[in-house]
Amino acid sequence: MPVKRVRHLLLLGLALVACRPRERPAGARSPVRPSAPAVTPYTRAAFPAVDVHTHFDPGATARQLGMMDAQNIRYAINLSAGWAGHGLEEALAQQRESGGRIVPFCMIDWRNAGSEGWVAASIAILDGCAAAGVRGWKIPKVLGLGAGDGRGNRLHVDDPMLDPVFERAAALNLVVLIHSGDPRAFFEPNTPANERWDELRVHPAWSFADPMFPRWAEILGEFERRVLRHPRLRFIGAHFGNAAEEPDRVESLLARAPNYFIDTSARVPEFGRHDPARMRAFFLRWQDRVLFGTDLGVGADPHDLMLGSTGEQPPTADEITRFWRSTWRYFESNDRAFEHPTPIQGRWTISGVGLAPAVLRKVYGANAARLLNLPWP
Ligand SMILES: [Zn+2]
Repeated sequence: MPVKRVRHLLLLGLALVACRPRERPAGARSPVRPSAPAVTPYTRAAFPAVDVHTHFDPGATARQLGMMDAQNIRYAINLSAGWAGHGLEEALAQQRESGGRIVPFCMIDWRNAGSEGWVAASIAILDGCAAAGVRGWKIPKVLGLGAGDGRGNRLHVDDPMLDPVFERAAALNLVVLIHSGDPRAFFEPNTPANERWDELRVHPAWSFADPMFPRWAEILGEFERRVLRHPRLRFIGAHFGNAAEEPDRVESLLARAPNYFIDTSARVPEFGRHDPARMRAFFLRWQDRVLFGTDLGVGADPHDLMLGSTGEQPPTADEITRFWRSTWRYFESNDRAFEHPTPIQGRWTISGVGLAPAVLRKVYGANAARLLNLPWP
């Protein structure tokens, strides 16, 4: 489908939705009122940022740095750096090439999880990462949604078999960024009635509706128990603590686990549709534990660009502008009912939380710089 047509359909869809009464649980969403046009253009972050959630191909350093500079992003954490012999060397070379601004987290190999010797091999990977100066370990959603336990079953996020690996990460002083589960709608039937249908239609493989998968709440419970089990290990819960639909639940884990942080990546559309007063209170209360992130993916091919999600076509220049502008506008303005950064994630609007400069400085960059020991002005 030509890009123009996709955009036309998206705009039409938004217009139709805007004319229709919203179906939303009582009290869970912000009231929709027409808002005055923003006065501030929100062309870049108001304060220097650290993007703790990116996927960068090491072959596109100049383009990535150009995008970061344009948005006032000082550092980006590359979560796609792999492990020794599987991308890590290239990612470390990119870190040097970028003057230390593109910072890799490493991974372990989940493909043979639970097999004989796998725990020891995973610990050895983390040892190698730390020895190479890597600061963090990224765990993708395959843990909980795909990896096996070597006995023919699903490997639970809180399976005790993994305890020594997490304890080694703590001993190595690594920070672990963990993605568990996915948007709750991905676990609902994959039909046009699903609020994430636009995205699921393009990516049917993202659906976990099949009963062969665990349910959303089950994975989230496993994830929470994992965080609570390792008080010495610093965790970052990806995508607003993997539960942007339930800020109360996120808040409860933050309150119980001082070692726990969250990133905002790819979920401004989701947490941005809660009551802005409630979300503003959330960000004020947890202003030292929230880390800015986007889920920006930049490949070697100039068309290979992910802005929190992907559609049928690469994003247009207008969509790129909208992504960044709506992101900054959410955190910096008190505007109501405006377009969110990622149209394919759903046909609704968000309302800004208007954070004060002192809070923005922490959430955008200072918290991550402190956690990851990055030089910071
Ligand atoms: Zn990601």
